[in-house]
Amino acid sequence: MIDIQTLVDHVLTYNPKCNEDLIRRAYEYGKVKHAQQRRQSGELYFTHPIEVAIILAGQKLDDDTIVTALLHDTLEDTDASFKELSELFGVEIAQLIDGVTKLTNLELSSVQAKQAENFRKLLLAMSQDLRVLLVKLGDRLHNMRTIKHMRPEKQISKARETMDIFAPLAGRMGMQWMREELEDLAFRVLNPEARNSIIRRFINLRDQSEDLIPSIIKDVRTLLSSNNIEASITGREKKPYSIWRKMEEKQQSFSRLSDIYGFRIITENEDNAYRALGAVHQRWTGVPGRFKDYISAPKSNGYRSIHTTVSGRDGKLVEIQIRTREMNEVAEVGVAAHWSYRDGRRAKNQFTVDPLSWLSSLAVRIENEEDDHEDFLEHVKLEMFSDQVFCFTPKGDVIQLPRGATPIDFAFAIHTRIGSTCVGSKVDGRRVPLWTRLRNGQSVEIQTATGQRPQATWIDIVITGRAKSAIRRALREDHQAGYIKLGRELARVALEHVGKKATDKALMTAAKKLGLKDYKQVLLKLGSAELMGVELVEALYPSLLQKSETNINNSAAKVIGLEADQYIEGASCCQPLPGERIVGIATRGKGVSVHSIHCDTLIEYEDQTDRWIDLTWTKGHSETVNKVTIEVTMANFSGVLGRICILISEQDSNIVDMHFSDRKQDFYRIAIDIQVRDVEHLENIITAVEADSDVAQVLQSRRHQVTLKK
Ligand code: MN
Repeated sequence: MIDIQTLVDHVLTYNPKCNEDLIRRAYEYGKVKHAQQRRQSGELYFTHPIEVAIILAGQKLDDDTIVTALLHDTLEDTDASFKELSELFGVEIAQLIDGVTKLTNLELSSVQAKQAENFRKLLLAMSQDLRVLLVKLGDRLHNMRTIKHMRPEKQISKARETMDIFAPLAGRMGMQWMREELEDLAFRVLNPEARNSIIRRFINLRDQSEDLIPSIIKDVRTLLSSNNIEASITGREKKPYSIWRKMEEKQQSFSRLSDIYGFRIITENEDNAYRALGAVHQRWTGVPGRFKDYISAPKSNGYRSIHTTVSGRDGKLVEIQIRTREMNEVAEVGVAAHWSYRDGRRAKNQFTVDPLSWLSSLAVRIENEEDDHEDFLEHVKLEMFSDQVFCFTPKGDVIQLPRGATPIDFAFAIHTRIGSTCVGSKVDGRRVPLWTRLRNGQSVEIQTATGQRPQATWIDIVITGRAKSAIRRALREDHQAGYIKLGRELARVALEHVGKKATDKALMTAAKKLGLKDYKQVLLKLGSAELMGVELVEALYPSLLQKSETNINNSAAKVIGLEADQYIEGASCCQPLPGERIVGIATRGKGVSVHSIHCDTLIEYEDQTDRWIDLTWTKGHSETVNKVTIEVTMANFSGVLGRICILISEQDSNIVDMHFSDRKQDFYRIAIDIQVRDVEHLENIITAVEADSDVAQVLQSRRHQVTLKK
């Protein structure tokens, strides 16, 4: 086990003013807390936190980060409490440790590759302080270095997770060396054969064309010194995993891959960097499309460098990066540079990006250029995470939602079917209302019930476009289903009236006659009042329609008060019924029109009293049939209209026709033409219909008379 003095000495080399006492106390505390625990390898558990601290000291990180590394597993694995940690080491460190613990507690292993991007964002979103993430990465790096002690299945899942989540995250934090090491360690577990074969090929190459790297370095060095440019040059074989990825991407064999070597020219200043570039391009031919100047246009995380690829003497492609020493430091350490110390002072590197502005600048353009393993940022668009929440499914998948999202949004994000049939939700195991706003890291369980449909009120609760449009679509479908249902009733009534049945076959024939697609369209049009019942009858049985019309209108013959030669003229606008008060209005010749005393048209004749004729109904009119229109306002529930039809027929009345007069979201108004004997009969019907709990209002319609034929 590395002793405390080694660690302290290490920190002192870059930070002579470090809080030695704090680090020593943390070391002792952790050692005592973990005293009883051992690692899979059999070593004392505490060897692990120390190694993590050493890794982070290698990044020259501040005291808080080093202490957090030493104590990162105490909250999770020992009886240490947040309170105790903050009393002993301060609230800031306690919070950092708490942050690492939260990341550790995320069940990452079930993550699938497609989920990885969400997981990386979740980790970023949950790391209020990026030092939490730095410690987590150090933790993962050490665990990967010692992975051989784990069970084989566990090795694979950890390696997968490292490849999908932690290595890209390290890259995104700008820590290239860590990304490469994590990838290599994971690659070794996931595909040892591929890795070995690439390593073997490098060895073969070295045997064939001996000392290729040193000879290129020598060439470049000679070139630069002859141009009086001071610089250091390094060269290396690219990592097996990055070679492997290129082979996979380009579907090329190893021997056909061009740039398997990478060279770096480090200059003292920017001026020399450009002069070096000029010299290199003068000497060798640059490969078109492979030149990038990140010095004049730095990446959002502060990365600056010139990249170019030239073709060497034997046609081999060689990639060269040119940058200053300071730029190189940022390129290696990335965001960590912000907390780095040198000689006891915060490192002042003009290229270091403040982590906060780094985070907020992650809304980066997608770079559709060729993949470059030195690229800091992957080819993924990152968003600012503060306006998003990440929640888990019971299976451990992560669902990314905008902030303010509800369990309904979550349900629709999983699947439209789950959203549509959602009836309740549990968040972290507790039942919550569907309008609850979700928070980061919560696990959400959706309860569904078959047959459940989206509620209209959900529209105002959800915030994702996906949920909104799915709910709207469902409501529209419900609407249509309602129209079709209603249309079927209307068709039945209209056809029954002429003694026919509304079979699908009859409706299909009607569809053809009316130029509609299918019988459903007929029902839909009937239900939405675009088609009248009589039009349907007319399309199918035109002759029957004529007959039924004359039947209905042989009414109102029996009145008292007419002169001998006077006769009742036509049907009245107000459908006066036997039993109610009526008046006659003399028209041309000897004709008399009969009106109810309540008819609005009587106002027109107020000044022409000579035309008014007192009329009453004769007794004994029960055999007469009179058509009236009633308007029923009813709730928009299925089955209501059917009940009303039954109520009317129970009152011994016949329905002649129906059509919509108004339709709203929650109710509709239907004009129903019925046959009644007299006003008493009508009143009975109105009373019976109005008694239904889903009926809001029933009125006799006098002004808008329904004419049977247009
Ligand atoms: Mn750990």
